[in-house]
Amino acid sequence: MERFTIRNCRVVDGTGRPAFNGYVTVLDNRIEYVGTTPPALLGRKIEADGLTITPGFIDMHSHSDLTLFADGRAVSKISQGITLEIVGQCGISGAPLYGHMEDEIGKFFDRHHIIRRPYTGMKDYLREVERHIAVNILALIGHGTLRRGVMGEEDAPATLTQIQTMQEAVDLAMQAGAIGLSTGLIYPPGCYTTTEEIVEVTRPIAKHRGLYFSHLRNEGDALVEAVDEALRIGKEARVGVQLSHHKAMGPHNWGKTRITLDHIDQAIVAGQDVYMDQYPYVASATSLTALLPDWALIGGSEKALERLKNTALLTRIIHETERKESRFGWDRTRIGTVREGQDRGLQGRSLARIAEDWGMPPVKVLIKILQDNEMQVSMIRFGMGEEDLERVFRHPRTLIGTDGGGSAPDGPLSQGNPHPRTYGTFPRVLSKFTRDKHWVSLEEAVHKMTGLAAHRLGLKHRGRIAPGFMADLVVLDPDRIDDVATFENPHQTAQGISQVYVNGSLVWQHNRHTGQMPGRALRYYEER
Ligand SMILES: [Zn+2]
Repeated sequence: MERFTIRNCRVVDGTGRPAFNGYVTVLDNRIEYVGTTPPALLGRKIEADGLTITPGFIDMHSHSDLTLFADGRAVSKISQGITLEIVGQCGISGAPLYGHMEDEIGKFFDRHHIIRRPYTGMKDYLREVERHIAVNILALIGHGTLRRGVMGEEDAPATLTQIQTMQEAVDLAMQAGAIGLSTGLIYPPGCYTTTEEIVEVTRPIAKHRGLYFSHLRNEGDALVEAVDEALRIGKEARVGVQLSHHKAMGPHNWGKTRITLDHIDQAIVAGQDVYMDQYPYVASATSLTALLPDWALIGGSEKALERLKNTALLTRIIHETERKESRFGWDRTRIGTVREGQDRGLQGRSLARIAEDWGMPPVKVLIKILQDNEMQVSMIRFGMGEEDLERVFRHPRTLIGTDGGGSAPDGPLSQGNPHPRTYGTFPRVLSKFTRDKHWVSLEEAVHKMTGLAAHRLGLKHRGRIAPGFMADLVVLDPDRIDDVATFENPHQTAQGISQVYVNGSLVWQHNRHTGQMPGRALRYYEER
């Protein structure tokens, strides 16, 4: 039994109530005591020198499903105070794997030169992933991963039998410990899926009190309709809805969050369980292929590349993309990470700038980059307005998520040009939104990141500093905290995070990972 007490700290306990000076005692992996007077049993003493102690941050939107196999330290997450990640977002998950998805996922392991972990179902995934991780995770079932496995890459509607197969798979994964289902309705195959089909496939999670996480069908011109669709899915399937990375994309759509938040409030008043999450940046990041029309992507990358070689189809693709993107602004889209062996000099530069250099229209630059990289290239888009960002952040149902996978300044995940949110999300909320702009108090900001998130997820023993709760803790300096990662130089850990504990073990100190791997894949049915 290991007991230690962090003393002379300012306790922000995650409930939203005012901070107080006091002591926090940990016994093994749980909090034993918190209070303003010294505990009866102190154990080893840790001097906090007046720094602030908070519960570990809950990353409501993570893509670390597979990166944890490549590097379980989760440096980009742990270093910003994250102790629990909700993985399996946007319809893409590490499990369950049906049909050709086992081979698809195998490509990730090959690319990172790591031994393929033997799993296909959710139960085995959770067992394998938690062997060597520093962070806790809860896993969603990705609708896209499941559907591609069951139905292949085509855009046909699911047959009754296929829907039943997916329902059984969802039920099985929930029994194994998944927290719910996620969809990515803007991406294939989500964009080929009807609302009714999603309602049917989501239904089995209701009896497990699971949640429906949605990357909406549209985040720009049809944003309001897309929010209404997600609310309808939650209502008909009788499950709670989590709207992922809520935003309005494209200057001509700015201000629409007034309407979406109003619709969300109406649903809440009518008795629906709805929350959303956000990352604190005006730029988003995804695959560059998302600029092409949906129909051009049917059947996967190889089919899409063939279409780009067909003159008639290419003309149509160019026409449709040009119409959409010239309105959005070619200067707003920058190249993220190119494929191995491709021109790294493009990374971080806008399509407009590259077009100038190459003396080519931006849409042709886009097509050429997609072809050169065989569609394996990401982008960063500066499409959001500051007012929407603030409006969404201030909403009492908004939680925080990185929308990033694991990265690290060293090791196998140090390559590429990820969005800086991967390293900076939580510190940025505490510095830019809280300390600098005073949008909320420190206690409220921490509440969004911890206690409120745990409440939303229905977790009994996480998200608060209270006796009996799991000892996921962050010691930080609210005056010094800041995100350091930039779009130009993203692989940089935040400053002002002094210590991070996961399940009672110290994983981050003096701006370094301790190498401890106390993380667990939580089984949702055990946590409620
Ligand atoms: Zn997403």
